[in-house]
Amino acid sequence: MDEENTLKLYFIPYLAAGHMIPLCDIATLFASRGQHVTIITTPSNAQILRKSISDAVIHLHTVQFPSKQVGLPDGVETMTALTNLADSAKFYQAAMLLQGPIGDFVEQNPPDCIVADFMMPWVGDLANRLRIPRLAFNGFSLFTVSAMESIRKHRSQTDPFTIPDFPHHITLRARPPKSTTGFMESLLEKELTSHGLIVNNFAELDGEEYIEHYERITGHKAWHLGPVSLIRRTEQDKAERGQNSVVKVDELLSWLNSKPLNSVLYICFGSVCHFPDNQLYEIASAIEASGYGFIWVVPEKKGKEEESEEEKRKWLPIGFEKKGIIIRGWAPQVVILGHRAVGAFVTHCGWNSTLEAVSEGVPMITWPVHSEQFYNEKLITEVRGIGVEVGAEEWSSIGFGEREKVVSRESIEKAVRRLMDGGDEAEQIRRRAHEYGRKARLAVEEGGSSHNNLTALIDDIKRLRA
Ligand code: UDP
Repeated sequence: MDEENTLKLYFIPYLAAGHMIPLCDIATLFASRGQHVTIITTPSNAQILRKSISDAVIHLHTVQFPSKQVGLPDGVETMTALTNLADSAKFYQAAMLLQGPIGDFVEQNPPDCIVADFMMPWVGDLANRLRIPRLAFNGFSLFTVSAMESIRKHRSQTDPFTIPDFPHHITLRARPPKSTTGFMESLLEKELTSHGLIVNNFAELDGEEYIEHYERITGHKAWHLGPVSLIRRTEQDKAERGQNSVVKVDELLSWLNSKPLNSVLYICFGSVCHFPDNQLYEIASAIEASGYGFIWVVPEKKGKEEESEEEKRKWLPIGFEKKGIIIRGWAPQVVILGHRAVGAFVTHCGWNSTLEAVSEGVPMITWPVHSEQFYNEKLITEVRGIGVEVGAEEWSSIGFGEREKVVSRESIEKAVRRLMDGGDEAEQIRRRAHEYGRKARLAVEEGGSSHNNLTALIDDIKRLRA
């Protein structure tokens, strides 16, 4: 590779697993095309990243995270470690303070382009000051960004809540909470001042209609480069994504190997959702009643190995634990989803989880909780027909804390049976899910849509530099 022609790119991910994992995979994509890539992050996040990326390919620059300055315990450098709203606010404040040390580094060593998470909105001013193009990343699908933009522009007041000026007629079971809408909209507005938006999705899943719709209503350019999880080819690469798995991958795989095709349910609500005990009990009861094997990730029980029998019985029916696998902490999700025994994924519809399931051709049982997850649910179920809804109605502003509505065991079991018991509907959903999995793989292969987009984007940044 001709050094002079090589781009110097800085990536600034937000410090939460759902943002960091895909943006670092995107950084790896650029590096794999011979570009000079540096990820700027904090020491403990760098430690996690070092396990999954090679220094020879990607450089890491670290700045101290001002935990103490905002009143957070030392060493808390990721959203995944938080369990209350007050700490989340402090965390965001600390992330805003990073503009000092990151700004100094970037000003002293300016790159050709900065790729930053939209949760770091101050990067816009920094890039403008240095006259460097900035690409934004928010971790959402373009379908979802388009829904948010349509709502922002038209202030829909309909009841039930329908997305205005939208290619599909979509009615949501819940409204986005007012407490987070203003914040989200200000970030989206700032994002539109960037050179373009990088999307972790493939054009075939968002669909041409949404690419056109987004460009029409915003005048902004979006580049589909995903699914980025597919750059990880080996079991080890997949297992080391995000954090260290708390279970032995070999043991998990040999358990899965002993199960028939499509017979196991995988249940995981991402890196920041914590359900209360009564909701966990309903989930366990539903799975037990369905009779299917399961792998259930319960991050909320992390660190509670010492819980008393009485505490345990609040969320776990007697004998349930022996019928499948409960993972208390970080699971090797991409490895699990890639196994042929996994027949359905009960998901909170976080975009990464969603796309990882699509990439592996696994149909979903959708259970959105917060953020943009209610939009993702609609793309999966009504628009692309690769999942069924559990019927969640409560759109929270955060993933943890008490909840007003419990999703009943009957609703959960019904959704599980709709996909797992076979029958025409289930077969069609499974067939479509497989087909999108195939398209996802083609998109990232040489000549595929995402592969071509990356080539065009690199050329575009080079043109800007020239
Ligand atoms: N993840 C994982 N193991 C876990 C929990 C999460 O590997 O036990 C990964 C998952 O594969 C995905 C990310 O963490 O890449 C979660 O992102 P998502 O957008 O799905 O949800 P969020 O955590 O942001 O709500």
